[in-house]
Amino acid sequence: MSRAINFNAGPAALPLPALERAREELLDFAGSGMSVMEHSHRGKEYEAVHNEAIALLRELLAIPDDYDVTFLQGGATQQFAQLPMNFLGNGKTGDYVVTGAWSEKAVSEAKAAAGMAGGAVRTAVSTGTGDGKEKSYTRVPAAAEIPVDPGAAYLHLTSNETIHGVEFQDFPATGAVPLVADMSSDFLWRRIEVSKFAFIYAGAQKNIGPSGIVVAVARKDFVASGRKDIPKIFQYRVHAENNSLYNTPPTFGVYLVRNVLAWQKSVGGLDQIERWNREKAGLLYGAIDGRPDFFRCPVERASRSVMNVVFRLPSEALEEKFVSEAKKRRMIGLKGHRSVGGIRVSLYNAATVEWVTVLVGFMDEFARANG
Ligand code: PMP
Repeated sequence: MSRAINFNAGPAALPLPALERAREELLDFAGSGMSVMEHSHRGKEYEAVHNEAIALLRELLAIPDDYDVTFLQGGATQQFAQLPMNFLGNGKTGDYVVTGAWSEKAVSEAKAAAGMAGGAVRTAVSTGTGDGKEKSYTRVPAAAEIPVDPGAAYLHLTSNETIHGVEFQDFPATGAVPLVADMSSDFLWRRIEVSKFAFIYAGAQKNIGPSGIVVAVARKDFVASGRKDIPKIFQYRVHAENNSLYNTPPTFGVYLVRNVLAWQKSVGGLDQIERWNREKAGLLYGAIDGRPDFFRCPVERASRSVMNVVFRLPSEALEEKFVSEAKKRRMIGLKGHRSVGGIRVSLYNAATVEWVTVLVGFMDEFARANG
């Protein structure tokens, strides 16, 4: 078997040991004579996996005790609506930092949800320039550009814009205003100071596991302040109080999350994972910057993403050729998002330094042959 060199943006590559473990345990989980998928979500076999996944997350990220860790469904997209449903009741306002396509979507869904509840949504700052098809995002705002309104119910940001390759390296201090982050594409690639945030959510399908699960890390008092007059299934409080077992969770997905997190711990935790990620990003940005006549990264240096590296070649025709020649060498997932074009390389935790070395070698060859 020869595994693909998978640079997909999500669903993305999973660490091989996590998949091998799943293969190993598939037909007979923990000596039970059945797969984990066939167990009740209320049984002790599944419960052990569920609790292990949560405990591993707590350990890897050093999550303080006054935070809940919950598994939610509906993707990060559902959180765009669920968050304002919980926190933007009558007259409340949510402030949004807009740095790319995903924060734009978060604002638009929040407007619809807040509108139903009598709340409001404001764009605190946007780094977008141009309009329509020409709209571009090439940086995150400096802390001084982000107005923190003490009256806001929360301030929302997208820590990493998966499509535009723009990432916050540091997070703004928001004082008493709860800071909320969509960390879907840069959760768990390094340590973060969880206590800076009131609420973090992340779709699993990049660094945590398969699609179908959203991990939320949320301060208990913030969760408790959410509305109680919306359907229970949408109340964060209900999921937290029930240890993410209010209704049937995606059990096999949680099991795979457990395998991925156990692998992260086994290799040395987030310190080691961060070292690898910085090495990968250093190699790739180095290759781009090393040939400025051929490759060009549109993102400002201080905002460059360690997870999603975007760049352009001299023409769209060459970009197409680049993607198709890379594919012949088993490298897939290099085409930029359809809304922005170009090349995108997603360097999530399961992408290895060796993969990036192969890619960088190919880039050099390609530039010499086509420059
Ligand atoms: N936010 C970000 C930053 C994302 O990258 C994505 C998916 N790529 C989403 C939200 C939406 O996630 P989902 O498709 O799981 O709803």
